[in-house]
Amino acid sequence: MRAAIFTGETKLSVEDVTSIEPGPNDVVVRIGASGVCHSDLSFMNGTIAMPPPCILGHEGTGIIEWAGPEVTRVKVGDHVVASFVPSCGHCFWCLNGQSNLCSLGEETMLKPKATRGDGSVAISLTGLGTFADQMTAHEASVVKVDTDLPDEQLALIGCGVTTGVGAALNTAQVTPGSSVTVIGCGGVGQAVIQGARIAGAARIIAVDPVELKRKAAEQLGATDLVDPSAGDAIAQVQALTGGRGVDYAFEVIGLPDTIVQAYEMARRGGTAVVVGMPRMDSSVTLGGFSLFYAEKKLLGCVYGSAQVRRDFPRFVELVETGRLNLADMVSRRIGLDEVNDAFRAMVAGEVIRSVITHT
Ligand SMILES: [Zn+2]
Ligand SMILES: [Zn+2]
Repeated sequence: MRAAIFTGETKLSVEDVTSIEPGPNDVVVRIGASGVCHSDLSFMNGTIAMPPPCILGHEGTGIIEWAGPEVTRVKVGDHVVASFVPSCGHCFWCLNGQSNLCSLGEETMLKPKATRGDGSVAISLTGLGTFADQMTAHEASVVKVDTDLPDEQLALIGCGVTTGVGAALNTAQVTPGSSVTVIGCGGVGQAVIQGARIAGAARIIAVDPVELKRKAAEQLGATDLVDPSAGDAIAQVQALTGGRGVDYAFEVIGLPDTIVQAYEMARRGGTAVVVGMPRMDSSVTLGGFSLFYAEKKLLGCVYGSAQVRRDFPRFVELVETGRLNLADMVSRRIGLDEVNDAFRAMVAGEVIRSVITHT
């Protein structure tokens, strides 16, 4: 198989590797499409520590071409979307309706997946590794979908869409008529905006310094656009909300400064949600009196608090009925060999999402 591997260098190595024999609970998926997510870059640049070599890619879809003898949930020929947190169904978190925190994830992420030409053994990002033409994963890491939607759109459900729409619908539970601000309008931010629109928010304020992203936000449901490079973003958001601040503020970058901004943008009694992934060694400082007196809720958010076996089919249906627009989130279709250029385009602010397609 061919795969894009993080070797500790700044660029991925796209190379032929030999897959390791799958286990009895594993499935082998022929990848149809894989989105290039900012979190892949976060593993490459050390935001989150990851021992190389590792096949990257955690947002993908494809067809099952082999299933282990103990696999019960899916079968050969099923169309699946990969879930970057498995959902085992029987751990403490799964039983408490929090399968986005499933404990099986720690085990699956360190499984060896492929042998490289030099003999070294690669693991795969979050137990997936969708930057490849084929992927071996635990059956708990895939969810069957029944749809004719194109793979380039389905792939996005695996991370960006579920994280963003889920942040609005599941984590924050945005209410009709409410006010929302979204700081950072990449793929996940655009999905938060769409989730807020689906939830019926009256005002959705998109905050991003890149014009292309603000324009996309407007197209996908933002009612107001704020350029943080053109003046204090908190003051601009407060001016749009009668000086109060918003009911829900989403931080979708993962930086301490913008997390504090999101907290400040939320109104007294409002909610701030940390959707972006901060560095492991970062910390956030908030005013102690404000934590008490402003009575704001500050929420962490892993994978949009999604229960993937419930939510993937739900999001597919929202796309099929025209309520969730994924077509306009796909900026570029590329081959696996162009993956490094996709990261360049991401950093340059040229795209919402690049998608690797194999068709
Ligand atoms: Zn992602
Ligand atoms: Zn579990």
